[in-house]
This record gives sequence, structure tokens and C-alpha cells, in this order.
Amino acid sequence: MHEMSIVESLLETVQSVMRDHPGKRVGEVRVRVGSLRLVVPETLQFCFAAASRGGEFDGARLVVTTVPALARCGHCGIEFPVEENWFACPRCGAADGSLRAGNELELSSIETMCTA
Ligand SMILES: [Zn+2]
Repeated sequence: MHEMSIVESLLETVQSVMRDHPGKRVGEVRVRVGSLRLVVPETLQFCFAAASRGGEFDGARLVVTTVPALARCGHCGIEFPVEENWFACPRCGAADGSLRAGNELELSSIETMCTA
């Protein structure tokens, strides 16, 4: 499953971050996912819960923010939303769009709690 491999690499990142914060527990993990990644947030959360259950991140919550895809026209310079990988400019029609957003898959923050 696509989402499960994302969650696995996400948990690896969380793990390496948490190594610098001994004695803390992960409360909430926030990620930004570009719409071009075709990730279903609910599926991602389900996989996260399944992968973290019983482990060191048991009970942690995953918050997914979807970033809409956006391109900039190389011809006239406007930015426009990308739909279905369509990069042609809606104003001048040039197929010269470069992606500005929508391909993100990044950890934006980790909220920690004390274990005590
Ligand atoms: Zn244009």
C-alpha cells in the first residue's frame, strides 16, 4: 500500500527527531501532503494508527494538511491551480507551467508530551 510506505518513512523521521528529546512522548504529528501525491488523508491516518499501535508512538495522532497543487506560467508569470496534472496556463494557454506546490510530503511539526 502506497500510504503504508509513506507512514513507515514518516515514523523513521519522527524516531530520529525524538532521539534528541529523551523522556518525551509524541502527542501529535503534523504532515503537509501535496494534492499531486494522491494520498487519502483518512487512509494515511489509519495506517499511522496501525503502524504506531503498541510501539513507542502508541496513541500519537496524525494530522494531515493537504496542499493544493499550484503552478506558475513560465510565459506570463501567473500562478494557477493544477488539476489532473494539467500544466497549461488558463490565461495565455502556454504549456510552460512549473510546479510551485502540490508535491509536498513533509513533516511540519511534532507535538510532544512529558512521559510523567
Ligand atoms: Zn500564461
